Amino acid sequence: MSIGATTDRAPGVWSTLVGQRHVIDSLARAAAGRGMTHAWLFTGPPGSGRSNAAIAFAAALQCPEGGCGTCHTCQTVLAGSHPDVSITRAQRAQIATDDMRDLVHRSALAPAGRRHQVMVIEDADRLHERAANALLKAIEEPTPKTVWLLCAPTLEDVLPTIRSRCRNVVLTTPTAIEVARFLMEQDGVPDSIAAFAARASQGHIGRARALARDDETRNRRREVVSLPARLTSLNACLNAAANLVDIAEQETGAITESSNAAEAADLDRTYGDDRKARTSRAYQAALKDLTYDQKQREKRRQMDVIDRCLMDLMSVYRDAVAIQVRAPGALVNEEMRAELEDVARRSSPEENLRRIDAIFTAREQMMEFNANRLGALEAMMVNLKTR
Ligand SMILES: [Zn+2]
Repeated sequence: MSIGATTDRAPGVWSTLVGQRHVIDSLARAAAGRGMTHAWLFTGPPGSGRSNAAIAFAAALQCPEGGCGTCHTCQTVLAGSHPDVSITRAQRAQIATDDMRDLVHRSALAPAGRRHQVMVIEDADRLHERAANALLKAIEEPTPKTVWLLCAPTLEDVLPTIRSRCRNVVLTTPTAIEVARFLMEQDGVPDSIAAFAARASQGHIGRARALARDDETRNRRREVVSLPARLTSLNACLNAAANLVDIAEQETGAITESSNAAEAADLDRTYGDDRKARTSRAYQAALKDLTYDQKQREKRRQMDVIDRCLMDLMSVYRDAVAIQVRAPGALVNEEMRAELEDVARRSSPEENLRRIDAIFTAREQMMEFNANRLGALEAMMVNLKTR
C-alpha cells in the first residue's frame, strides 16, 4: 500500500477524528453558531470515533476559539474534567433510570461558565426504557443552554421519539489508507506496521492503535486468525472455543482487577475504618451493589474482546472468499496470503459464506440472547471445522 507523505489533518480538537472531514466541517460550523441545535445523535460503526467526535464537539462548544485543542477549556473537556461537560458511559448492560434522572436534573442547572451545559451519553443504545422516557422529556422541553450529545451504533438503536428530535451526525468507517496515515502522523508508527495495523483493524481506530503499539495484542490476533487452519477435528474445535474465552479473560483481567480494587478502596474510605460502619446494613448493601456492577462491567468487557476476536476470525473467511472470487485489492490479512490461499483451495466460497454466517449467529446468541458463551462458541467452531 502506498500511503503518501502528509495530509491535511484536521486542526485542534478534531485531530483525533480519522476520515471524517464532512462531519468535522458541519460540527465546526455549528460550534461557530451556524446551524446549532440542542440535541445531536452521533452514529457510526464501532471504532469510527463517535464518542470522540461528540467530546471534540463539546470542547468546540466550550472553547472561545471554537476548539483550538490547546487552551485550558479544550484540555479539560478532552480529559473529561470540565465542569460543564458531563460524559456518561454505561457501566452495566443498561443505563439505569435513577442515573438518567440525575443527568436530566444536572442538565437543567446553569453552566458554571457562560456557554453551554453539555451532556454526552456514549451509549444511548443502552438506555433502560424508563431512562429513555426521562431523556425524551428533557429533549422535548430543552433549557436554553443545554446541549445533548448522544452516541449509538445506528439510528435504529435509539427510540424513534428520541432520534426524531436529534440532528444525526453520521460517522463512516475510515479507509485503511486514512488509518495508516493517522498512525504514522499522530503516533509516529513506522509505515510497515501502520499499514498492517490499519488493514487488520478494519477501520477501528482504537484497535489499530493497540495493534500498532503492542506486541501482545498483535500476538493474540495472530493466534485468532491462525485458528481456521487448525480446526481439523472436533477436539480442536472445542479447544479453540475454550481458547477464545481464555483470551477474553486474560485481556480484561488486569484492567478489571485494578479498577475493582480502586473502587473497593473508595467505598471503604466512604465508610471509614469504623468496624461498626463496615458491618452496617448500608455498607453491606453498597458493597453488594458495587460487586454486581463490577461483575456486569467485567462481562461486558469480555464480550467486547470476544466480539473483536470474532471479527478477526471472520476476516479470514472473508479473505478466503476474496481469493476465490479474485476480488481486487488487498486482503485484510495480506501477511498470511499463503495460508489463506490454502484455506481457499480446500473450500468453496459457499462454505466460507456459511462459516461467516455461523460466526454472526454465535455473536447474536451471545449479545442479544445472553447465551452461554462457551456453548455458543463451541457450536460455532464446529461449524467452522475444515473437511
Ligand atoms: Zn480551546
